Amino acid sequence: TYVVTDNCIACKYTDCVEVCPVDCFYEGENMLVIHPDECIDCGVCEPECPADAIRPDTEPDMENWVEFNRKYSEAW
Ligand code: SF4
Repeated sequence: TYVVTDNCIACKYTDCVEVCPVDCFYEGENMLVIHPDECIDCGVCEPECPADAIRPDTEPDMENWVEFNRKYSEAW
């Protein structure tokens, strides 16, 4: 899965949401999040993010971000 990280906070762009083929972005409290079970790992959103906030969970120490993204995407 891809996850949204703290660079997203207060970002006003939604380019990522527009390109996602499965609509798996959700609104968190002050940033967007990706539902980790709905993301199909296509990677399309990553280069669209002007804040470089979207990272693959294959990077080191992403477990907490995956859980954070899950928590806020399931709040809806
Ligand atoms: Fe959506 Fe693809 Fe980004 Fe996952 S990697 S959030 S499916 S655009």
